[in-house]
Amino acid sequence: MKITVQKYGGSSVADADRIKNVARRVIKSQQPGEGLVVVVSAMGDTTDELISLSQQINPEPSEREMDQLISTGEQISSALLAMAIEHNGAKAVSLTGNQVGIQTDDSHTKARIFKIDSRKMIEELEGGRIVVVAGFQGINIKKDVTTLGRGGSDTTAVALAAVLNADSCEIYTDVDGVYTADPRVVPDAVKIEKICYDEMLELASLGTKVIQNRAVEFAKKFNVVLHVRSSFNERPGTLVIEEVEGMSMEKVVIRGVSLNQEEAKLTITLVPDKPGIAARIFKNIAENNINVDMIIQNVSAQGFTDVSFTVPRPELAKTSALLEKIAGEIEAGKVNVEEKIAKVSIVGVGMKSHPGVAATMFETLAREKINIMMISTSEIKISCVVRSEDGERAARSLHQAFELDREEE
Ligand code: ADP
Ligand code: ASP
Ligand code: MG
Repeated sequence: MKITVQKYGGSSVADADRIKNVARRVIKSQQPGEGLVVVVSAMGDTTDELISLSQQINPEPSEREMDQLISTGEQISSALLAMAIEHNGAKAVSLTGNQVGIQTDDSHTKARIFKIDSRKMIEELEGGRIVVVAGFQGINIKKDVTTLGRGGSDTTAVALAAVLNADSCEIYTDVDGVYTADPRVVPDAVKIEKICYDEMLELASLGTKVIQNRAVEFAKKFNVVLHVRSSFNERPGTLVIEEVEGMSMEKVVIRGVSLNQEEAKLTITLVPDKPGIAARIFKNIAENNINVDMIIQNVSAQGFTDVSFTVPRPELAKTSALLEKIAGEIEAGKVNVEEKIAKVSIVGVGMKSHPGVAATMFETLAREKINIMMISTSEIKISCVVRSEDGERAARSLHQAFELDREEE
């Protein structure tokens, strides 16, 4: 059976009218004899609201209970969408991650999918029903509910497309596709027609939240073509595909600018400069399941050095408590915390063959009098950490400096 997977994000199902709109679109796209699986996110800001509710009750809830709580948002939207579809005369059934059989590992709040049992979905599809799946969730081996990290419904959709061998995977959202930068921050941003997995993966990992990075990872691994587009109009969106010759991707030096304002920076001062110390710090942090992003170590002076690194802001309290403890053990100095920083990045596979990109980036920021606190590079990206209040201006000036507003002309 030919199968299509569609995913609708939170803003597309934010209220009753929007759910009805999605139901109409879904029914219109249903083809006789073909299967349609629809993955939904929680309505509007439900997930944020549930998180803030939990904070009022217990500032340090267990991650298991957190997952039990935040997974409910998608259960609500999926049931409501199934009802809306049935009200319009088509057949539908909603399923939670557990009912679908999405098995994940144990890491609550950022679990990874390792197995999906497609039998239940196939049965329902063969019965002529549109299968509406609650995104963002699965269960672990202990049958506890897990969630897949913020934005995780994208990953649910791509994983289902892979396991069902779907013909297409459409990600419906509140913008017309993937832009050269967040159109809310950079008004001149341009919609990209086609982007390769590697560039999309970098952008997504660096804070472009139009699609979750794990979803892109999955898509690349299983060769699922993604179509990111709007749920509010019929315009074609952005295709995320394997890089093919003739796509002229190499000609585009910089594909996009990404801004991440959801990280925090920690510095541990007066760290004894001897072998094994960095390993000790970061091993401890990794054992606590905290994802460290950028790291810099200053030049050593009189046998001591400062080490700074960034973590996702929700991990800050946990990391800072841990670092205080480590600092005591290794006889280092103070732990300084900068709660708000911005990381601005430029991404493009064409960077590999074009020298001078880093220089242009640094010159642009210098001209804007924006101080760079940290730098990291890979083959296809350069990231700079700057002060939080400089983030948006940095993104706009880089977008202009690399002439991204002209890219699709
Ligand atoms: P959904 O609820 O549909 O999953 P998200 O809020 O997760 O939607 O992602 C869509 C948002 O991503 C857009 O509203 C936009 O502001 C933001 N965004 C950030 N960077 C980009 C980009 N480069 N292209 C398109 N959208 C972007
Ligand atoms: N509702 C979840 C979130 O807000 C998952 C998603 O929207 O994809 O992160
Ligand atoms: Mg999203």
